[in-house]
Order: sequence, then C-alpha cells, then structure tokens
Amino acid sequence: MEITFLGTGVAIPQKGRVQSGVVVRLEEKPLLIDCGSGVLSRFPDAGILHTNIDTVLLSHLHFDHVADLIPLLKANWLRGKTDMRVYGPEGTGDLFSTVNRAYAYILEGVDVDVVELSPGKEFTPEGFDCEISCAAAVHSVPTLAYRVTAEDGEFVYSGDTEPCTDVMDLAIETDLLIHECSFPAGTKVTNHTTPSTLAEMLEDYNREIGSICLTHFYPEMKGHEREAVHRLKNYVKADIILAEDLMRLEL
Ligand SMILES: [Zn+2]
Ligand SMILES: [Zn+2]
Repeated sequence: MEITFLGTGVAIPQKGRVQSGVVVRLEEKPLLIDCGSGVLSRFPDAGILHTNIDTVLLSHLHFDHVADLIPLLKANWLRGKTDMRVYGPEGTGDLFSTVNRAYAYILEGVDVDVVELSPGKEFTPEGFDCEISCAAAVHSVPTLAYRVTAEDGEFVYSGDTEPCTDVMDLAIETDLLIHECSFPAGTKVTNHTTPSTLAEMLEDYNREIGSICLTHFYPEMKGHEREAVHRLKNYVKADIILAEDLMRLEL
C-alpha cells in the first residue's frame, strides 16, 4: 500500500502546502481521501492520472477538504471519465444537490453515486479489496475518521479533530495514524489538535500504534515542527513523521 500526501495544509494559503488530500494506492487502484483546493493540481506532480480516481472518501465538508472535488469531476468528464462514487458524512448528499442547482451541466454529464456514512459503519468500496471503518471525530461539523484495512497494511486518517478516544480506539494496532496537528503546542484551540493535546491522549495508547504522521498544518506551525516531534516522542514509542506535500509512505 502506498500513501501519497497531495496536500498537507489548511484553509490559509501557504508556500509548499495546498489544502487536504491523500491518495492511497491499493492493488494499483487509487483511493482519494479529501480533495481540498490545490489537490487537483498535485496529480501531475505526484505522477497520478486524475482519471484513475473513481472513488473519494470525504472526512467532512469544509472547503479545505472538498473545494477541488467538483473541479476533479469536471476534469475527469472532459477526459471521458464520468463515473464517481463519493463517500462522506451526513450532508454529502445535500452538497451535491446544491451544486447541481448551480452547475447542472456538470452533474448531468457525470454519474455520481453519493454514499452517506455514519460513525461505526464498516464497508468495502466497490471495486476495492479493502475494508473501511468509520469513527466520529470531534470537529465543528460532522466529521468521520477512517480506518483502511488492506492485505498489506492498515492506517487511520483522523480528518479534522480534537484528539479523542473514538479516533484513537480506531487506530489501535494500525501501522500508521495520520493525525491532524493544526497548531503549535500550547495554543488554546477547540475542534483541532496541537502536539500537547495529542501527546496527552497518546499516553494511553503507547505501543498500540506503529507510526504517527502529523498533517494539516496551519502557517502558525511553521518553525515548530521539530518541537512537535520531540514532544510526542516523550509520550510514545511510535515513529513520528511530519507530512509534506508529495511525500510518499509505504505500508
Ligand atoms: Zn475542518
Ligand atoms: Zn481542515
């Protein structure tokens, strides 16, 4: 399993980081998780053909996770790829109904199958040889964390969240936890994670998670990345990785 970070940033523009998006290559077929602004332009950089994407998982519907989804549909349509299945939390169906009112000419040309998920749901996306489980993240809108289990490995993608036991429980015995880390340690923030709040939570999960990859960095995190790694290393044995746009991880 190969995981490529297309975007590791947030809603604020910053050099070198576009908004959120991760592509997972499973049995040669790619699965896209989130599709924020800038993610579409990363496909050529990552050497991945956008027309190979026919399945997208959305953690939640904030712009920095969905802004390039309709442009992806349009790009695929222009190249003759018209089928897409989109899995997401409650509200995903409404998002497409709303888009359809404004851009009916796009959605008339493509066949989008929307599947709304809820916490606790387990499923296998059509055409894939993997299992996906969902848990509720703690964010300002309904947000799902996903555990993807395939023959050669398994990982959890937290989405945007405060550190919470539902996401950590989902990550027990996984090879990799991709967890958001929006702000530097000590920042007072709700709905997002800092190295200090994540460290406190991880103390109870030491030795249960293989590696932890931090992503979803606000510009405020710049210059505090190494400090985040050192802080977390005091609490867990896991390797701590800092995500970069176009970084690849193999499981
Ligand atoms: Zn969000
Ligand atoms: Zn976000």
